[in-house]
Amino acid sequence: MLATVESATVIGIEACRVRVEIDVSFGLPHFQLVGLPDASVRESRDRVRAAIRNSGFDFPAHRITINLAPGDLRKAGPAFDLPIALGMLAATGVIAPPALAGIVHVGELSLDGAIQPARGLLAIAAEARHHGARALLLPHDNLAEAAVVTGLRLLPVRSLVEAVARLNQPPDEWPTPSPLSTTRSTPGTLGTLGTLGTLDLDLSDLHGQAFARRALEVAAAGGHNLLMIGPPGAGKTMLARRLPGILPPLSFDEAIEATTIHSVAGQLRPGVGLLAERPFRAPHHTISDVALVGGGATPRPGEVSLAHHGVLFLDEMPEFDRRVLEALRQPIEEGRITVSRALRSVMFPARFVLIAAMNPCPCGYQGDPKRQCRCTPQQTARYRGRLSGPLRDRLDLIVEVEAVPISALTEGPAGESSAAVRERVLKARTRQLARGGRARVNAQLAGAELKKHAALNTAGRRLLERSAEKLHLSARGFHRIVRVARTVADLAGAEGISSEHLMEALQYRFIESTTETK
Ligand SMILES: [Zn+2]
Repeated sequence: MLATVESATVIGIEACRVRVEIDVSFGLPHFQLVGLPDASVRESRDRVRAAIRNSGFDFPAHRITINLAPGDLRKAGPAFDLPIALGMLAATGVIAPPALAGIVHVGELSLDGAIQPARGLLAIAAEARHHGARALLLPHDNLAEAAVVTGLRLLPVRSLVEAVARLNQPPDEWPTPSPLSTTRSTPGTLGTLGTLGTLDLDLSDLHGQAFARRALEVAAAGGHNLLMIGPPGAGKTMLARRLPGILPPLSFDEAIEATTIHSVAGQLRPGVGLLAERPFRAPHHTISDVALVGGGATPRPGEVSLAHHGVLFLDEMPEFDRRVLEALRQPIEEGRITVSRALRSVMFPARFVLIAAMNPCPCGYQGDPKRQCRCTPQQTARYRGRLSGPLRDRLDLIVEVEAVPISALTEGPAGESSAAVRERVLKARTRQLARGGRARVNAQLAGAELKKHAALNTAGRRLLERSAEKLHLSARGFHRIVRVARTVADLAGAEGISSEHLMEALQYRFIESTTETK
């Protein structure tokens, strides 16, 4: 008796169909799994056997062969448990085999027959609809994310017994396809689906630090990476955490991409449908390169991809392992990361605004009027030198955040609200998008596009050339300042870049000559 069950797996962030073929024939009891399963899939045998028995069904005492097709695709993870168990129950007559036709089945089984949530259900649901599946049978805990895909019939189940009952039911008794619309819901509704809490942080909570706030606004407006240098307690982390709140709201397509990545990484909380806010990721400086950029035997997205369409915050940047920082270069330049495995390479999207923070010196108190810095110039130089030239080249804004008394950060007149700042950011972004072309934000301007959209007048060019000499600017450094000046002009609603805009951009190159190797 042969049964075929449709299932799916996720490679990178894309779903691929997998066909589970189950053959139950007479012969000595034997349970064999073929078709490039990894160790986690091979363990299915034991879970399926226990789950079938503990759900009150008979486990066939026959020769059982299970094939996962296509054979050249490495199958990983426990989500084939449910299709394997259902196929065996179909092969032994518990389920009428036609009941399984056209349905995609995904789920991990516990020994007692309960169904555990799986990774990547949003991508799998999208793929199932794309291929015209009749329905998707899935773990109940994954319902919210799968329901983001419209026009697909979803059969959420909590146990093997429930799955069998559902499949033996006539389809006209199944729930109707998800009625959610594909257009973006109101932010309030989405907020209840997948709030991350970063939007509760408002810039109005932060008093003082006018210069750093302005740098944050420029970073948001032009998508520029920002490094803040300042002593502990200056408010660097408070500032960074408020960046998502002044970036444009997530578009529906961006939300789908970000949610898919979180789902594949197993980082989506049960009940969360679509992420409604830009992600904010702040990995600790002890993170490994694999955890930062992704990888592993079954490649999973790393922090850079979890930050996709959002913010990656690296506090105490020089403390990160040099190899880890070097691994950032590809995602910063290309907006994606390629993870190569023995069998295939996998691409994860990773476009984020990088916010980095560091102390001015190893002890943190250089330049502090109240505390004495005890670092030698050599120690400080070595500390700053840990940020390699190529990485610094990708930080368009480098600003000093001065120490202020804690009371000044939280007391006194309230700062401008995030909503007010976001309005200016949105206007500046609209100007950038209206130019068309490859670069969607000024931070991506390069080559001909940079020349065309960020042309300098004679006075501006002279000003910049004088500064370049004084600051020992490289060609890259020169371009950074022009890109930032373009954003300052966009924030001002100006068509061309004026000397005033350039002067402001030049302020965002704090201690250029001391942090940059010549
Ligand atoms: Zn010091």
